[in-house]
Amino acid sequence: MIPERRLREELIRVSHLCYQRNLLVALDGNLSALLPDGVLCTRAGCHKGFVTDDDLIVVDRQGKKLRGSGQPTSEILMHLACYAERPDVKAVVHAHPPISIAFTIAGVSMARCVLPEVVLTLGTVPTVDYATTGTQTLADRIRPYIRDHDAILMDRHGAVCLGDSPFDAFCKLETMEHTALITKLARDMGSVKELPSEEAIKLRKLGLRRYGGPPSALEKVEQAGADLPAACLSCSGCANPHPTGVGPQVNLKMARVTSGPVQALGDRQMEDAIVGEVLRVLGRAS
Ligand SMILES: [Zn+2]
Repeated sequence: MIPERRLREELIRVSHLCYQRNLLVALDGNLSALLPDGVLCTRAGCHKGFVTDDDLIVVDRQGKKLRGSGQPTSEILMHLACYAERPDVKAVVHAHPPISIAFTIAGVSMARCVLPEVVLTLGTVPTVDYATTGTQTLADRIRPYIRDHDAILMDRHGAVCLGDSPFDAFCKLETMEHTALITKLARDMGSVKELPSEEAIKLRKLGLRRYGGPPSALEKVEQAGADLPAACLSCSGCANPHPTGVGPQVNLKMARVTSGPVQALGDRQMEDAIVGEVLRVLGRAS
C-alpha cells in the first residue's frame, strides 16, 4: 500500500490538475483514495484548484470522520459505494467535465465504440439516470454501473472515474472528456462513424488483457463480445447507423414554421406563391 503522505501529495496534485484541465470549476467535484484505516477525501466546500493538505479529511468506511478539520465532501456516499462495490479500486475522482455533461443533457449516449484508444482502456461510458447530488439514491443508482465500468457519467451532473491510484482515475476522466470533445467535433462536421463491431471486440479483448479492467469485465474477456454492450456488437461501423452521431437521434432545433397560410397551400400552389412573392420583392427593389 502507498504511504499516506505520498497518497496525500498525489490527491492534491490530481485535484489541481482537474481544475487546470477544465474538468471542474469553483467548489465542484471531489476526490478520494483508500487508506488502510479508512478513506482519504477532499473536504466539503474547498476549491479543487487550490487544495492543500489541510483540505483533506479521513473518514471510516461508513463516512464517519476520523481525522482532519471541516466536513467530508457531501458526495462521500458515492465514493464509499465505489470502494464497497469494487475491492480492486484504490481511488475515485468525481468531476464535472463540461462536454461530457453536455452529452447527457443533449441525450446523446457515450456508450458507443468510436475511438480505438477508448475501447482499449475504458470500453464504453454508460450514463446513469438523474438523481439529486449527494443523496443515497444517487449512490445506490450508480452501484450496478460501478461493478462493470471504470468511467461513468451521471445525467446532468458529472463523471465518476475509478482507478488503482488518483492519477489512474484522473487519466480515465481526462480520456472521457477528450473523447467527448472529439466526438462533438465530428458531430459538428456532420456524422460520427463508429468502429465496426469486429474491430471494437478485438480492441476491447486486447485492452482488457493488456491494461486490465473491472473484474466483471475481465471475466468476459474470452466471451464472444467481451464486455461490450449489445449496441456496439450490432454496429456496422462505416455504414454509420446513427446519421446524427452516436446514441439516440436528437431532434435538431431549427426554426421551422409548421402551420400558416403558406403551409395550407399545396406544393404547386406554394411554389407559385413563393415565386410570386420573390418577383414582387425584386420588382419593388428595382
Ligand atoms: Zn458533483
